[in-house]
Amino acid sequence: MKCPGQDTRHWKPGAIFDAKCPKCGHLVEFFKDDTTRKCPNCEHRFINPGMDFGCASYCQFAEQCLGNLSPKPSKNG
Ligand SMILES: [Zn+2]
Repeated sequence: MKCPGQDTRHWKPGAIFDAKCPKCGHLVEFFKDDTTRKCPNCEHRFINPGMDFGCASYCQFAEQCLGNLSPKPSKNG
């Protein structure tokens, strides 16, 4: 289950970039199709700031894709 548009073979330079952890400012490497990434420094998990969530508005799998990002009480505490 992968969007054809997110196939790594079609990726251009810049598909991998660094984003600052909102908690500690550590640079975290993101792939452009990562929805979230865990900071290796403080273990804070945050959303990919460069992610294009436009596909979620029509994708039938959006709920599975983004479901774990909804602000429900976390079972991981
Ligand atoms: Zn951090």
